[in-house]
Amino acid sequence: SSPTTAPELALPTSAALFERAKNHIPGGVNSPVRAFRAVGGHPVFMQSAKGAWLTDVDGNQYLDFINSWGPMILGHAPDIVLDAVQAAIPASLSFGAPTRREVEMAELIKQMVPSIEKVRLVNSGTEATMSAIRVARGYTGRNKIIKFEGCYHGHGDSFLIAAGSGALTLGTPDSPGVTEGVAQDTLTVPYNDLPAVQHIIEVNEGQVAALILEPVVGNMGLVAPQEGYLQGLRDLCTQHGIVLIFDEVMTGFRLARGGAQELYGITPDMTTLGKIIGGGMPVGAYGGRQDIMDNVAPAGKVYQAGTLSGNPIATAAGIAQLTYLQEHPELYDELNRITTRLADGTRQIAAELGLNYTVNQVGSMFSVFFTDKPVHNLADAKHSDTEAFGRYFRAMLHRGIYLAPAQYEALFVSTAITDELVEVYLTACREAMREAH
Ligand code: PLP
Repeated sequence: SSPTTAPELALPTSAALFERAKNHIPGGVNSPVRAFRAVGGHPVFMQSAKGAWLTDVDGNQYLDFINSWGPMILGHAPDIVLDAVQAAIPASLSFGAPTRREVEMAELIKQMVPSIEKVRLVNSGTEATMSAIRVARGYTGRNKIIKFEGCYHGHGDSFLIAAGSGALTLGTPDSPGVTEGVAQDTLTVPYNDLPAVQHIIEVNEGQVAALILEPVVGNMGLVAPQEGYLQGLRDLCTQHGIVLIFDEVMTGFRLARGGAQELYGITPDMTTLGKIIGGGMPVGAYGGRQDIMDNVAPAGKVYQAGTLSGNPIATAAGIAQLTYLQEHPELYDELNRITTRLADGTRQIAAELGLNYTVNQVGSMFSVFFTDKPVHNLADAKHSDTEAFGRYFRAMLHRGIYLAPAQYEALFVSTAITDELVEVYLTACREAMREAH
C-alpha cells in the first residue's frame, strides 16, 4: 500500500517566535536539543499541557512521549501537584532559611531509596552530579573519575568528556571551554564492558575517586546494563575503594519507586536525583552513605550551597509527586505494561517493513534505534541512520506525536498514556515508518 502522507502542520506562531528567539538567545533555545537541529525544521513552542496532551502556540495538539525529559511521570499538570504548589505559594516563594518541607522531602527520599542515608537538595541534575563528585573526591582524597562514553551527567565541566545527549547529537561530546586539566581527570570507557573498567582502574590504581554511571542509560538512546554488569562495577569499586555513584536523574522514581538500584538490586555508595523529584519544578538531590555525606559542609569541609536550594514551592511539588508514587506502587506495573505495548508494537511495525530496527526498553523508558544491530553501547548506537530518524520524527510530529527530537535520546512514558492512546501512537508509527525509510 502507498504511504499515507500527513498534512503539513500549521506552525506560524512557533516559526515567528523562533525567529525572534534567535536574535536574543543562543540558537534560539535555553537547552540545545530543543532547537530540533538534528531533525530539521524549527522547534514547536508550547502553550499548555494536560495529562498526555501538549498544546502548542498555534493550537496544535500532540501526544507527549518526552514529558519534559522525564519529570512528568503522572502526565502534565496533575491536580495533586498543582494543588500542592498553589497551597504553598501564599506563604512566600523563598526564604533562604530551613523549612519543614525540606525535612519531609529528605525523609521521603530516604524511604524510597534506602541506600541514601543523608541527602542534600539542589536545583538541577547538573548540580547534583557536580556536587557528588566533589564529595567523592573530598572523601577519598583522590582526583580522577571514571565515566562512560555516551553517558550524560549534566553540563558540569568534568562530564563534558565523551558526553551523550545533546552534546553527542550536536557533535561536541568533548566541549570547548573545558580545560585540559579537568579533562585529564575524567577517564572514559565504553559502557557494558567490564574488562575495560578493570583495566583503567588498574592503570590508575589509587587515583580514582569515583565511578559514575547511568545504571540504565537514557542519553545515547536507551541502553540497558547487561547481565552482571552493575554487580561487576559494584565489586570493582568495593575492591579499589572507589565511590560508586548511580546517576539516577532519569531513572530515579521511574524504573521502580527506588529507581534502577531497586530494579537491579545493586547498592551504590552515592545517588544523584533530579527530574521526577521536582514534579516539574527545578529540583535535584544527591545523597548516599552517611560517612560520605557527612563530608558536606557544614557537617564536613566539602563546600556546596544554594540560594534557592530546598525551595518551598519546589519541595511542595516534589513531595506531592513522590508521595503519590510511594502510595501507588501498582502504577509501575501498569506503566511497564503500556510501555511494553509501545515498544513491542514499534518493533513489530519496523519488522513488517523489513527494517528490523532495534527497540530497547526498560520499564517506562524506550527508544527506537534506526539500525538492525543490537545496541549495548555508544558505538552500537552510532550505527543508527540518523537521517531516517529525522524523517520519522517529522512524520510523527505532523501526525501529532511528540517524540524526542534526536536519535540519542530516550522516550519517557507517563501514566496518562492509556491503551487507546497506545493505538493512536501505533497507527501514526505505522504510517510514519513507511514514509521515513
Ligand atoms: N544526569 C542525567 C542522567 C541526565 O539525564 C541529566 C539531564 O538530562 C542530568 C544528569 C542533568 O540534569 P539537569 O538537566 O537537570 O541539569
